Amino acid sequence: MHLNSMKKNLDKLYFGSLVPVTELNEIIQIYHNGLASNIYKASRLEISPSQTSLEIRHSVEEIRKKWKSYESHFKRDDELEYLGYVALEIKYTNEYFMKLYKFTKKGKDLRRIKLNILEKKVSFIHKTIQKLINYEVDVAHYERKKFLTQYEKTKKQLGTALFLIILTILLISMYVFRSIQKDHTRLEIATTKIKKMQIKSLRSVSYMDSLTSLHNRRYFNLVYEREIKRARRKNSYITFMMLDVDFFKQYNDTYGHIEGDYALQSVAKVLQSTLQRPSDYVFRLGGEEFGVLLTDTDESNSAKLARDICDAVRDKKLKHEKSSVNEFVTISIGLVCCIADDALDEQVLISRADEMLYEAKRTGRDRYIITSNVSSAKVKVA
Ligand code: GH3
Ligand code: MG
Ligand code: MG
Repeated sequence: MHLNSMKKNLDKLYFGSLVPVTELNEIIQIYHNGLASNIYKASRLEISPSQTSLEIRHSVEEIRKKWKSYESHFKRDDELEYLGYVALEIKYTNEYFMKLYKFTKKGKDLRRIKLNILEKKVSFIHKTIQKLINYEVDVAHYERKKFLTQYEKTKKQLGTALFLIILTILLISMYVFRSIQKDHTRLEIATTKIKKMQIKSLRSVSYMDSLTSLHNRRYFNLVYEREIKRARRKNSYITFMMLDVDFFKQYNDTYGHIEGDYALQSVAKVLQSTLQRPSDYVFRLGGEEFGVLLTDTDESNSAKLARDICDAVRDKKLKHEKSSVNEFVTISIGLVCCIADDALDEQVLISRADEMLYEAKRTGRDRYIITSNVSSAKVKVA
């Protein structure tokens, strides 16, 4: 809209009032009315010589002024040559009138003036100037056409450029929006994953013994009850072992608490590597005591595993010079293995394992003692 009104104004300004033909038309008018017409009157003695001389002088001065003003407008190179020619013709014509001016100035009348020469001069200069006017108009039309073509072309180019810019902005915005959306989704997925991992790790930390990375007593309480119930339902084997490091107090006293911790870690590793079934559970129950819970393992297999554990701990060859059983660290195990039924008491299983451990200690350490007897009558031994 703005572009169109701008164009209209420019068009009007450039091709309307500014086309410098007004001065040329006025010059022609002065030649006819200010000069020729007065000289005719003078030839018929209708005006006095002094008045005639005044009119001539005034008209010639007007013509010079208007021509000067016309010349001051912008001129094209191809125009200059013809312009020079017109200027010369105007000069000659004006000289002719200036002669008449001098003549009349002296008080002489123009009765005997040759009017055909006057007519010829005026008509010639009229034609010459008219030619210039035609030329100016032609140039103006040509320029206008050129301007309009250029204007339309620029308008189209501008439209295309604008369209492309808007399209580019739209595409970039879409791309940015999609990237943000993708990042957001990724972020959400990552956050959910992190949260899950945090919950998992928190849970595992609260069920894990920090020294040995085995399950702790809390976890034992959870799993023990669950596995006993399951074994009862299935009437399947359940084995519980209590393990205790032999003469560990002396070990600490001899090698220091830090070495003691290393020894506990070694025992934990032995337990983990010996018991690898998913249904085998190993716990650090506290201090230098460990617990093992096995499912679906009969007496002989449970006994074999207990023996393997004792052997493997001994085979670690952790020097224990104050032990009266062996030169290396050893452990004792008390275990109970039975087929679970509804009569099975959870506490009895633990007590019996504890009793067996005591027996293992009492009878020399570095050994295991197994029982399948879980009758509550024997519990009192502990
Ligand atoms: P026994 O053969 O009869 O089991 O003798 P013991 O010396 O092992 O028996 P006792 O239960 O009297 O000693 C256990 C020792 O274990 C006492 C304590 O200093 C040590 N202990 C308990 N927890 C830790 C631990 O986390 N790190 C270390 N280094 N020592 C521990
Ligand atoms: Mg102990
Ligand atoms: Mg001990």
